[in-house]
Amino acid sequence: MLGVTILGNNSAVPAFDRHPTAQVLTLRDHLYLIDCGEGTQIQIIRYKIRRSKIHRIFISHLHGDHYFGLIGLINSMGLLGRIQPLHIHGPEPLWQILQLQLKEADTHLPFDLQFHPLPQNGLVVEDRSSEVHCFKTDHRIECWGFFFKERRHTREGIVEGSSYAFCADTRYDPSLAEHIKGATWVYHEATYLDELKEAAYARYHSTSKQAAEIARLAGAGHLLIGHFSSKYADLEPFVKEARAVFPETYLALEGTTFCFGKSSDHPAMVK
Ligand SMILES: [Zn+2]
Ligand SMILES: [Zn+2]
Repeated sequence: MLGVTILGNNSAVPAFDRHPTAQVLTLRDHLYLIDCGEGTQIQIIRYKIRRSKIHRIFISHLHGDHYFGLIGLINSMGLLGRIQPLHIHGPEPLWQILQLQLKEADTHLPFDLQFHPLPQNGLVVEDRSSEVHCFKTDHRIECWGFFFKERRHTREGIVEGSSYAFCADTRYDPSLAEHIKGATWVYHEATYLDELKEAAYARYHSTSKQAAEIARLAGAGHLLIGHFSSKYADLEPFVKEARAVFPETYLALEGTTFCFGKSSDHPAMVK
């Protein structure tokens, strides 16, 4: 079973009761947190995510709207008596930031916090039931997308099941499609509508139409769009614009869980 719950879908600052980026991916018996914007632990409580089951955290880049909630979450896990190890995969300087925050607070965590710097490209981690790859995106600072793949064990050997590509923050970059070919679901940022595509380019972001173009190029099954600019209260124009290019597009609405089913052609179940 592969599914994703959206905890935050806004860019830069919280607005209209939308929060900065965070998503929880369920992959078989693992929970993976993808990005951890400010307020993520509040959203985890609101949407009844089992915090103790979060096994790995993947941080795409060091803009605050993608990791300012991390030290708060780690600290709470410690206060609540977590004992199982927590793995963090992120840009190398994140480890120094976390260590400084913990050291100056004289915080001694009761669990083992293991940090794994992201490689430039390629395999991040693998186990019996899954594999995770990363790839660079075109953003103002170093930024990585992640490709999560479910592994199935058959008599013929290991085959790939459902998959989820998280494209993080990025300018429109058709070469991204090569990294996420055939993904069951793709999440791609859509900070602006296409009428602001010059602003999107200047700020290293994408439009809704461009997100749809990437999903089409990748031959994806479905597209989730998020990271909306605080300029927009109404999100319906985003989905309308994207569906003109890629009909299987959905808004990454907070509190929504998208379940990917058992095969890539299984219809999306949204609850
Ligand atoms: Zn961002
Ligand atoms: Zn960013």
